[in-house]
Amino acid sequence: MADQNHELRRAGLKVTLPRVKILQILERSKDMETHLSAEDVYKALLDAGEDVGLATVYRVLTQFEAAGLVVRHHFDGGHALFEVSQEEHHDHMVCLESGKIVEFFDEAIERRQQEIAEEHGYELVDHALVLYVRPKGSDAPR
Ligand SMILES: [Zn+2]
Repeated sequence: MADQNHELRRAGLKVTLPRVKILQILERSKDMETHLSAEDVYKALLDAGEDVGLATVYRVLTQFEAAGLVVRHHFDGGHALFEVSQEEHHDHMVCLESGKIVEFFDEAIERRQQEIAEEHGYELVDHALVLYVRPKGSDAPR
C-alpha cells in the first residue's frame, strides 16, 4: 500500500482509497501478465469487499492513463484493456479463441520498424503491434 501511495504521488495524483485499491489490482494483474477491463477491475474490487462503483473505476482508470500510470489497449473487438505502464517495451498477441493475451518482445521486429520509419523519412516515436492468433491446428473461422 505504501508503494501505491508513493506511485500515485509521483504521478501527481492525490492518494485516495479507490485509487490505491485500483492500482493494487492492476499491479497484481501485471505479475500474472494479464490485462484487465474496467469491469474486471470492478469485479476484483467487489471480490475484495471494496465498495467502489463502476463509474469511479472508469474515472480513475482515465486519470491513471492521463498520468501515464497505465496504458489502455483497444484490441480488436474487445473491451478496452488496461495494464500498468512498464519501462520495458513489449508487444501483444491476442488469441481469438480464448482471448488470452501474450506479451512478447522481438529485437528484429523492433529494428525493422525503426528502419521502415526511417526509409519513409521519419523517426519512430512509438508503436503498438498486435498479432491476432489462434491455436496451431485449429481451423475456427474468424
Ligand atoms: Zn502488455
